[in-house]
Amino acid sequence: MNSPYYQSNQSMDKYIPFNKPYSPGSEFRYMEIAISRKHLSGDGIYTKTCHAWLENQLYCRKALLTHSCTGALEMAALLLDIKPGDEIIMPSYSFVTTANAFVLRGGVPVFVDIRSDTMNLDETKITEAITSRTRAIVLIHYAGIACEMDKIMEIAYQQNIYVIEDAAQGIVASYNDRPLGSIGHLGTLSFHETKNISCGEGGALMINEPKWIERAEVIREKGTNRSAFFRGEVDKYSWVDVGSSYLPSEVSAAFLWAQLEDAENITEKRMQIWEQYHRGFLELEVKGIVFRPVVPDACLHNGHMYFLVLNDARTRSRLINDLKETGIQTAFHYVPLHNSVAGKKYGRTAGELPNTIRTSERLIRLPLWVEMTQDQVDLVIDAVYSSLGLKKKHKTFFSGSTQQKDWRTSTQDMKKR
Ligand SMILES: *Cc1c(COP(=O)(O)O)cnc(C)c1O
Repeated sequence: MNSPYYQSNQSMDKYIPFNKPYSPGSEFRYMEIAISRKHLSGDGIYTKTCHAWLENQLYCRKALLTHSCTGALEMAALLLDIKPGDEIIMPSYSFVTTANAFVLRGGVPVFVDIRSDTMNLDETKITEAITSRTRAIVLIHYAGIACEMDKIMEIAYQQNIYVIEDAAQGIVASYNDRPLGSIGHLGTLSFHETKNISCGEGGALMINEPKWIERAEVIREKGTNRSAFFRGEVDKYSWVDVGSSYLPSEVSAAFLWAQLEDAENITEKRMQIWEQYHRGFLELEVKGIVFRPVVPDACLHNGHMYFLVLNDARTRSRLINDLKETGIQTAFHYVPLHNSVAGKKYGRTAGELPNTIRTSERLIRLPLWVEMTQDQVDLVIDAVYSSLGLKKKHKTFFSGSTQQKDWRTSTQDMKKR
């Protein structure tokens, strides 16, 4: 314990980072097995095991691991044959690649406002953004809390357009008991270091339309029918379509498997921290000082993120600085895509986006990672109260879930379907 690493860590004792990657421990053994099997490129035994888990737990027709959620979104754009001038409706309050994957094919992002409660795409603003060139809606489930999927799917069927769920933040979360990513025509997941389940860099495409499965395999394998060849369906493989290389290596898949296996535990821990924050900030919300996240009845989330929305941008800056001085790292979130240099160049805006702007100026994300202790969560809560000029009345130690539904019972329900 005399290593310089340990010492430098010790001086950081009081520091609470925004994120700390979780390690279940079993990944070392799985990576060793992968290495000893002498198959390190993609689609070996661990990739297949991860595919089966995703298909069984998340009810998609086919899951394919990719090197990132960005890669999965690019595959979605290729599968939909997005052509120059095709329009894709999406929230402006989102990550860059939600738009970029489609812009790469010449698609035009059409930016729509978000709801002021869930920060998700405002389903009542979609219809007026649709034109004869609209091909798809790409939505994100912000903080793992689902969009109004029933309404969105209804609009999509009526207008004959596709729905892609960017479920990067939504693994094992659900909407009316349906796992996120399995409701739209396609879904994407991220296993980036900052996500609930991670392998550093990684992702998956969830295919819910059987007609796309074979083509998705080809696109993922550089435009070749290599996957069919290995199943013995063709006697040689060759270039048959457009595509690129989207596979992760077996080392990544082995690492990921350790986390997928532990998904229940990871989600439970994150939910406990989320609940502790949520109870802790009730008083501030009642006093009109912050807005807390809103979880609609149809949604079961996954504790991906805890955020607060302040009353103005100045209060948020002060809060971020005050917490930083206490040794607590926080983060704001998306800079609206419609106001960005590339967003203006490649996209267009449908109407006014007041909620997007308001949220991007006032939202703050708090530290949330699996091994955070109850004391650390309370330190953050106390620091927020004191920055906002209040003293916290009660301790907020976790004492059982206050959610109406439990994550495990809900997954068991899912398994039964
Ligand atoms: C993290 C994230 C992405 C990007 O994921 P990568 O795996 O890093 O490509 C895309 N969309 C959303 C909504 C995200 O949160």
